[in-house]
Amino acid sequence: MSKKIVIIGGGPTGLGAAYRLHETGYDNWVLYEKTGDVGGHATSHVDAQGFVWDEGGHVIFSHYKYFDDLIDKALGKEVHERIRESWIVKGEDWVPYPFQSNLRYLPKDVQVSCLVGAAKAASNGRGREAANFRDWILATFGEGIADAFMFPYNSKVWTTPLEEMSKGWIADRVAVMDFKRLLENVLYERDDVSWGPNNKFKFPLHGGTGEIYRQIARHFPAKVQTHKELVELDPVRRRISFADGTGDTYDVLISTAPLDLLVGMMKPADAKLREATAGLVHNNLLVVGLGLKKKIETGRCWIYFTDDDMPCYRATYFSHYSPFNVPNGDIEHYSSFMCEISFRVGEKPDPAKILEQVTAGLIKAKMLDEEDRGKVVSRYHRFVGYSYPIPTLGRDAALAVLQPALLGLNIYSRGRFGAWRYEIGNMDHSVMMGVEAANNILTGAKEEVFHST
Ligand SMILES: Cc1cc2nc3c(=O)[nH]c(=O)nc-3n(C[C@H](O)[C@H](O)[C@H](O)COP(=O)(O)OP(=O)(O)OC[C@H]3O[C@@H](n4cnc5c(N)ncnc54)[C@H](O)[C@@H]3O)c2cc1C
Repeated sequence: MSKKIVIIGGGPTGLGAAYRLHETGYDNWVLYEKTGDVGGHATSHVDAQGFVWDEGGHVIFSHYKYFDDLIDKALGKEVHERIRESWIVKGEDWVPYPFQSNLRYLPKDVQVSCLVGAAKAASNGRGREAANFRDWILATFGEGIADAFMFPYNSKVWTTPLEEMSKGWIADRVAVMDFKRLLENVLYERDDVSWGPNNKFKFPLHGGTGEIYRQIARHFPAKVQTHKELVELDPVRRRISFADGTGDTYDVLISTAPLDLLVGMMKPADAKLREATAGLVHNNLLVVGLGLKKKIETGRCWIYFTDDDMPCYRATYFSHYSPFNVPNGDIEHYSSFMCEISFRVGEKPDPAKILEQVTAGLIKAKMLDEEDRGKVVSRYHRFVGYSYPIPTLGRDAALAVLQPALLGLNIYSRGRFGAWRYEIGNMDHSVMMGVEAANNILTGAKEEVFHST
């Protein structure tokens, strides 16, 4: 086989495909990346003061041995291992994650409403019949837990009315538990924090999450061309054009660019496909960081916020992930918090205002003291476009039109926003989507992750 394979995007998916092609010894391929660096959303940045920031808190969860092995090869011993410790802040209360498993940390009246709602939900058992995400939350957890945590938290993250979201994506992304255990945890005053695939996680010692992808790309430097932004695609002639006026041809294209933008680049335009992209909804992200000249000793990793006066849905003790996330690895004197704020397409939050609100929120939650305002030595922010691919009710119908049509044109649209499926939108899924797309092109092997339901 000598088909020319062109990969668009040097994020985890594009690099997964590239690594697999390189590994098999196949040589007729090239990767084009629009920015100057690799890693995509999983890249990292260093600010002028020497603090490292990710594009939102990235924790390695893995469902795949191939991905684990790749991480080990990329990082070797240059890793820091952490035990997940996450909490939810609600008003004055701190509740270990997952919320519903640790109701005993709440005031008694809230415990009662959560338990009564959960008992009713358990006896009805209607989760399966729910028509949308909102109804699924109510049917699964009941009104108390929905009002106390599930509704406010999810509304913050998704910035979308929950009744406009489907429930098909949930699988292992939302912790579900049985009522008996929930009740026992309250009565026996038992902590229950073991849920989820990411109890222990590795983090790159140097350079943030992005270091993983920089190391992977080092295997094939001549094949990765940066500052190449795809702007036009002729699927009939199989020609691509870049913003710098250059172009290339392909036999097979693996695109990891957002699917709606890719379809918008097609010339001649395909009206049916364009119309289908109207069913794809996403939101954007503002990452803000506070670098402090202050030692913070903690076992905490990240904190979820439900209250309206705190704009972020999550704050990460980022200096806890690796000492080298602060200048010179000096955690005796420095620490950092990284906070994520979702916003809707078309909104443009003011970073200075948000930074002030976030600082006030961290003080209110007692994660910082009032006097720490004077210890802030770095105020960081970054807008990140295309943050969450939202599993709306119309998403699957849109994908059912788009993906088969693109594949018919020899275009594999894969990755977090290429596939547009949040449920397979983490780094491990993304890398594997790239690996499996390459395998499929070379040998016809089934793409398990992309086709998983
Ligand atoms: C806030 C947030 C938190 C996250 N937390 C975690 C986590 O804890 N754990 C986890 O496993 N995953 C996490 N993720 C998901 C992770 O970031 C993604 O799985 C991963 O980055 C997706 O890889 P990708 O290659 O599909 O897409 P991207 O990372 O988006 O990469 C796409 C690449 O394509 C390039 N590109 C786009 N358009 C063009 C164009 N026209 N021409 C050329 N190049 C182009 C982009 O510049 C980018 O480099 C998180 C994501 C976000 C947003």
